[in-house]
Amino acid sequence: MADCIFCKIAAGEIPAKVVYEDDAFVAFEDIQKQAPVHVVVIPRQHIARLTDLEDAVFAGKWLLAANRAAGVAGVAESGYRLVTNCNADAGQEVFHIHMHVLGGHRLGRLG
Ligand code: 5GP
Ligand code: ZN
Repeated sequence: MADCIFCKIAAGEIPAKVVYEDDAFVAFEDIQKQAPVHVVVIPRQHIARLTDLEDAVFAGKWLLAANRAAGVAGVAESGYRLVTNCNADAGQEVFHIHMHVLGGHRLGRLG
């Protein structure tokens, strides 16, 4: 989609530190890390928000891609947190769905 920063990253038009990619997903380091490991996992397909996600198989593959990205980033055993923000109250800034993979130190409790 034109003017979507994550579509441009998926297409290689904007540089990013890619840690994992396959035919349907790309995982890259977040530009503003909130933890020692902070990777963002996106589908190549443009889907604006989590509420637009309808394909259960695709959703499952996205989760597995995030798991693989966590493995490549070296936090599979030490632990990681997956977060995806939807709409304003969650603070979604980029309207192309993405999963944050956070780890590399002890994370604070949610709440
Ligand atoms: P959101 O707040 O929408 O859940 O998260 C968007 C994330 O994308 C933020 O953590 C932000 O730092 C990251 N981000 C925004 N623009 C870029 C970019 O151009 N490159 C990279 N690598 N990350 C970005
Ligand atoms: Zn997009």
